Amino acid sequence: MPSNKRKVLTDSAFPASLLIFLFLFILFTISCSRDNPVIKETYVMGTKASITIYGMNREKALEAAGKALHELHRLESIMSTWDPESEISQLNSNSGEKHFALSTELSELIRISIQFSEITKGAFDITARPLVQLWGFQDGADMLPSESEISNTLKNVGYKKMNIDPGINAITLPKGMQIDLAGVAKGYGVDQCAAILKREGVSSALVNLGGNIFAIGAPPGKKGWIVGIRDPRKESKLAGYIIIKDEAVATSGNYENFIKRKDKTIGHIIDPATGKPVSGNTLSVTVISPTAAASDALSTALFVLGPKKGISTLKQLTRSNKYTGALFIISENNDIRFVKSANLDGKLIPVNSTP
Ligand code: ADP
Ligand code: MG
Repeated sequence: MPSNKRKVLTDSAFPASLLIFLFLFILFTISCSRDNPVIKETYVMGTKASITIYGMNREKALEAAGKALHELHRLESIMSTWDPESEISQLNSNSGEKHFALSTELSELIRISIQFSEITKGAFDITARPLVQLWGFQDGADMLPSESEISNTLKNVGYKKMNIDPGINAITLPKGMQIDLAGVAKGYGVDQCAAILKREGVSSALVNLGGNIFAIGAPPGKKGWIVGIRDPRKESKLAGYIIIKDEAVATSGNYENFIKRKDKTIGHIIDPATGKPVSGNTLSVTVISPTAAASDALSTALFVLGPKKGISTLKQLTRSNKYTGALFIISENNDIRFVKSANLDGKLIPVNSTP
């Protein structure tokens, strides 16, 4: 009977089309989860943190990103000089007194910081805090310090003056000395996030904490992560792109973080050799290196050193270490000029070529 025949046809055709639909749906879902990243953000260490993950089931990716961002909040509660309860604030208020026992994290970060002070011959120095305070980054008074105030404050600055026990388990700061980890802590935090993500099985991700970036692998089908480098003269303009894979990048400059005192613009990076904020024609320094802590500390230090001394410092480092490259953006005749280390070729993409 025709109606029976039709029923038989319908019965067998329906599961087949359902199967095809299901197959296509699964394919679509897989390709979507591969091409659409999972992004999780928070506000921590005075800036925005974001984690972008590709190629992982959404729930697992969100869980991994959540663990990594939680670690940043934990580190902030140890390293923040704005929080009077933090370990670093307690260490600073102990200055001139007895040995202060350090947590593993603080000990590790102080060890890393001293390493970068030595590499940069003191241009990076976590003991620069009394100078940062003298120049009014905390009290807001419209005053400029005198030469004698600067030279007096310099007596309390210098990483070699910290009294650290051999295992870096405890430290004594001479009276008046203060530590400020702001130049390296964000990078260190990014490295900790990347380690957590890798442990959670993530193989393609970008961790970005206020411009301190670490790239795990590459986005699907790409050679690496493409990161824009800002034109220091204009917020919405890019000066170029860099491409990174399993490495870090950070940019230092005075264009975002500065104060006005007596109509003078004072940048937040201090030259520990002079006790004064860095001036001159370097607008920004971008450093690519194996770890985000290195990129963070070195970009701050190279901003102090300027292109000539900065690039020769990197050459010595690259000889003994893994890849590290730098891009200086210099102000010249109302325009900008690039000065880059030779090993940056291939990683720098001009702004006019679409990456
Ligand atoms: P940027 O992102 O511009 O490099 P960072 O936040 O990494 O800035 O580092 C700058 C901060 O580090 C300053 O706000 C100050 O607290 C501290 N700092 C200033 N000068 C130095 C220096 N020469 N070495 C280490 N830390 C410094
Ligand atoms: Mg820094």
